[in-house]
Parts: sequence; C-alpha cells; structure tokens
Amino acid sequence: MRVLVVGSGGREHALVWALRRSPDVREIHVAPGNAGTADLAKNVPIKAEDVPALAAYAQEQAFDLTVVGPEMPLALGLSDMLRKQGLRVFGPDADAAQIESSKAYAKNFMRAHGIPTADYAVFDDYDQALSYLNRHPAPIVVKASGLAGGKGAFVCHSDTEAIGALDRIMVERAFGAAGDQVIIEEYLTGQEVSVLAFTDGLTVSPMVLAQDYKAAYDGDNGPNTGGMGTVAPVQWLDSTLLRRVVDEVLQPAVDAMREDGIPYVGVLYAGLMVSGNDYRVLEFNCRFGDPEAQVIVPLLETDLASVMQACVEGRLDQLNLSWANKAAVCVVMASRGYPNRYSEGLEIQGLDQAARLPDTVVFHAGTARAENRVVTAGGRVLGVTAWADELPGAVQRAYAAVEKIHWHGAMFRRDIGAKGLKPR
Ligand code: AMP
Repeated sequence: MRVLVVGSGGREHALVWALRRSPDVREIHVAPGNAGTADLAKNVPIKAEDVPALAAYAQEQAFDLTVVGPEMPLALGLSDMLRKQGLRVFGPDADAAQIESSKAYAKNFMRAHGIPTADYAVFDDYDQALSYLNRHPAPIVVKASGLAGGKGAFVCHSDTEAIGALDRIMVERAFGAAGDQVIIEEYLTGQEVSVLAFTDGLTVSPMVLAQDYKAAYDGDNGPNTGGMGTVAPVQWLDSTLLRRVVDEVLQPAVDAMREDGIPYVGVLYAGLMVSGNDYRVLEFNCRFGDPEAQVIVPLLETDLASVMQACVEGRLDQLNLSWANKAAVCVVMASRGYPNRYSEGLEIQGLDQAARLPDTVVFHAGTARAENRVVTAGGRVLGVTAWADELPGAVQRAYAAVEKIHWHGAMFRRDIGAKGLKPR
C-alpha cells in the first residue's frame, strides 16, 4: 500500500512512524513533513492548507490511502475532493469537520442531541454579545467560533478580561473570519481529559485516554499553548465514566451525523471537563490531537494501517483493537518564547543519543534539515516520547531522553505526568 500523510507536526511524525511498521505499507509520502518524517518517508513540499495541490498530487500518485493529520485541510474540504476523485481517505468531509471548524455548529449540535456541554449563547453581533456579558459576570469563557489554531478560547476571570476577549475577537479581528461569531459560555471547573475514538461512521472504537498539559509552564501556569506534553492512559478516570462518554457522546454524535447524511470517517475527539462523576464536552476535534497522538499511537498494538483501512471500508466492527498495558509520556521541547515570538534555525544536538535509549522515540514537530544538521523551525520543536510498564518509569525515561537533547533556548515543562502520579 502507498500512503500519503498530510501535515508537518509531531502528530504526523507519530502516524508515519506507526504506519511504517505495517507490513502492508510499502511507501509513504508526507506533505510537507519535517526533518523527522524525512528519515522514514518521502517529504513532498506541499503545504497542508494547499488543498487543490494536495488533491492533484494524490490523484497523480494514485495513493491507496490518504491520512489527513490537521484540521485545516479537513475543514477546507480535502477529504471531499479526494473522495470525489475516487481515492480513499482517513478523515471526515468538510460538513462533518464542522464539529471542530465551527464551535457554533458544535454547540448547537450538542444541544440538539442532548450531549452534555457548558451552557452558552452564540452571537454575530458585538453589541448583543456585550450586553450578554453585562448580564453574566465573570468567570466566563469567550470563544471565536472558527478555527483559531487553539488560540481562540479565552477563560476570563474578570469582566474586564471578558470584554477584552470580545474586543480581540470581534473588533481587532485577531482571528479574522473565525471571529465572525462568538460563543460565550459558562465557566467549568474540574480536570480535563481527551477521549479519542476511531470511527467508520457506524462503529465507535475508543482509544486509550490521554491527558494534555496545555499551559506553557510548570504547575499549569503561563499562557495556553497547543500542548506542552501528554500522558496516556489516564489512570484517574473511572471506566464507567469512559463507557458513559462513549454511549452518551461519541456514539450519539456519529449516529446523528450519519442520520443527517454526513457519515463521519476518521478520528472523533471529545475534550472533556470532568468533575467527580459529572462531565461536560468542552469541544470536539475532527482528527488526532497533537501531542495526544504521540502517546496514543505507541500504545496501539493493532496495526494502525489496518485500523485506518477498516474505517475507510466501513468494517471497523470486525476489528478488536488491542492496546499495550503500559503508560506513555510525551514531553514537548519548545523554542524559548513559545507560544509568542521565538527564533528559528537553531541547531539541535543529541538527537541520536536520545533515540538510542530503550522504548523512546523523539517525534519531530517544528524541525528542518539544513545540510547535515537538524535545526529548529517552529514553536513546538520535538515531542520526546517514552513508555514503560508504569507511569513513573515512562516519565523517568522521557526526561532521560530530554536531558540528552540541546539547543540554545530549549524550553520544556518538568512536571509532565505529575498529575497522574499524585495520590487522589
Ligand atoms: P477549546 O478550544 O474550546 O477546547 O478551549 C481551550 C481551553 O480553554 C480548554 O482546553 C480549557 O482549558 C479551556 N476552556 C474551554 N471552555 C471552557 C469552559 N467552559 N470552562 C472552563 N475552561 C474552558
């Protein structure tokens, strides 16, 4: 089988790494990829958002399967185009991807189908939104409805902050058209957890649970980021609650989409806020999380290519997924300054020494090759991942690998995994 993987982050490196191990996969191309995927596959210089060029390339190469990593090409209709061309693609059509690309759609969908979520109101008019804020004091959450690269949600602890967030989205238009609509919602407290599932549009097959560390600095301080680390499985979540999330959220969502004539094929991801035995859905994503994929994929014992094929062919019910009874940890190494301004082009050292450690993989995100060197080329640079029988061993291994890797201004959290280690 010849496969095209779309994207350039740690998530895509993890997918390529797993697909490479499949006996059915003969060749992988990655568009555009990074220095890590270049070692395992052929990088093709087409950006993940350049949907027409990707569709043309897939057609010309007649890939047996295209795997779409990030949300943007899905929202822009890459899967629709490939399906029209008669090609097989793992990832939902644009209509189904609205579950992520429009928070207004997702919230209304949840309300219509009885999926538990925070109370909310949607506005496309600034004055009405402002008057709602005047009637609903902080703490409150203000979100741009469209895709904003994970930066469009503002958790506001004062009324001034809330008005500031509304101004940023609707007046300054910091996220462009993604801010045409805003969602203002009830502030929730609890622990966040990600529940991801494979689906062929009918069957829902959950993955091991993952917990993200989103804040930039230790102790969950500092600005929100795309994710500074992640752990799987999540030991504190009770298995009855997981079953409920599948029965009350994921399966009804997939069923409702199918009944609406938009079958959902790919990964459906629900971000939850859990408090005691209660939970609400904060958001849906229409693809693997990054960095969640970096810890989930290594624990999947079933061949990833065969799972994706089963999804595409509508026979996921015939496959029993097998997960390693281990814990995995991913520590993100980022450029100093991330998630704000940072420099690029700095040489990374120690990658080979880290890669030689047992049960460890260094997934690349913002990296590039410059002659014989690997250099930084983004905010999140590496996802240093390790696994072991128990979480403490995986944490120790991941940090042993992090210690081997150096560049000027490398930054990482030192407490990834700590939430799972704390007695509850
Ligand atoms: P979202 O893009 O909707 O997932 O929001 C990004 C982050 O903002 C989430 O991961 C939470 O940490 C936080 N967040 C979003 N919605 C709420 C809410 N209703 N209450 C508290 N925190 C929230």
